[in-house]
Amino acid sequence: MKVSSRLSRISLGLLNAVLIAVLLAGFLPAPEASAKTVAQWLEGFQTGKDWFGEDFAYDINDTEAVWELLMKPITVLDVGETESVYPVTEPGGKKKVNNDKLGGFINGASAAVHVLGEDENGWTLIEGIDYYNRIIRGYVKTKLLKTVTPNQHYGVVVDKLTQRLYVFIDGKFFSSCAVSTGLPNDEQPYNETSAGEYLTISWSGGFDSEGMYCDMAIRFNNGDKIHEVPCTILADGTKRYTKWEAQLGQKASHGCIRVARLPNDEGLDQEWLWDNLKRMTKVLIWDDAGRKMPYPDDDTLLYYNPNGGKYYHSTPECSSVKKKYYPLTAFKYSELETGLYARLDPCPSCTPVKRKSVIDLENLNRGAITQEEYDALIAGYAAQANGTADTATATAAPEATATDDVEITIIPAEDADN
Ligand SMILES: [Zn+2]
Repeated sequence: MKVSSRLSRISLGLLNAVLIAVLLAGFLPAPEASAKTVAQWLEGFQTGKDWFGEDFAYDINDTEAVWELLMKPITVLDVGETESVYPVTEPGGKKKVNNDKLGGFINGASAAVHVLGEDENGWTLIEGIDYYNRIIRGYVKTKLLKTVTPNQHYGVVVDKLTQRLYVFIDGKFFSSCAVSTGLPNDEQPYNETSAGEYLTISWSGGFDSEGMYCDMAIRFNNGDKIHEVPCTILADGTKRYTKWEAQLGQKASHGCIRVARLPNDEGLDQEWLWDNLKRMTKVLIWDDAGRKMPYPDDDTLLYYNPNGGKYYHSTPECSSVKKKYYPLTAFKYSELETGLYARLDPCPSCTPVKRKSVIDLENLNRGAITQEEYDALIAGYAAQANGTADTATATAAPEATATDDVEITIIPAEDADN
């Protein structure tokens, strides 16, 4: 959302005009090479992983601690919900601490800042988090600082490690569901959903974003919103969610938090949030950097269709498989890297737990394990797969032959956003 709302809609027309002018002039500039990696954009800054302090537990099961944090007042910058403030290097100064594209500013009205100093001639030293997930420390006008008590009945936690959104009501955990937070890349390092503390500031509603429709959006950090997983709307009005729904549980957006549209057992989905959450509910966003994702329990049951299924599923009655194959055949997570199970892909519809090798790669990428540790783990799986290949038939592993089971239509990727 932040890109489409801030850049594409506003400046694409202009950009096109410039490109056309350039083409007419008969030359094209060389494509701008990416000068920096995401890691380099963050160099020299503390980031969202430092916001809650070094010893923060990130324990979603510690309801008491989570609730206390959710209810605590926060300080925000008292400007409009779509306005931003650039901290400057000295009281009364004009020099911005940082002025990267879409960087260096703190969004108004809903994003928490930490007050670090006393008033100095009308200016106060603060820190806040910018769209790059970087802590920006500098001076803002003291009169902009406003302390807000969040809604005292509801609270929301979004954990970037588990890619889930957790709802708390009146001091108790209510339910959780899968989300997709922002996926940064070297060209758009600001796509990361910044960690920190925010308030649900307005119910801004559905919006189009480059061919996708995102319904029931709730603004929490200027251009970043909590909204339903995107869909395309076909000519006859049918909504297709397949592609983006399959990404739930992993980073995928340009900064927004995409929420499941199918209600879980407690009825939680984006529509529930839209109908039930109150304005000024606190949203804690927990960073994933340096945190190690544990493996699922070895006894976790997974399912497959022995009649040529290509996928492993989280449920014996996955809606992507024809009903005549119900119930699907169960096996254990501990068997997933062995025999022909090793060839199954995760079902894009029911989003089962990830393979150990996939979790390992993610842990490597977020700096939770070293390259050496990663290499050793992967070598171990290769040995495990080879060692069990001969016995695959004996252990009744699936035969990957026919392809009769899945009715999923994958809609081709688009250059779309949010
Ligand atoms: Zn499935």
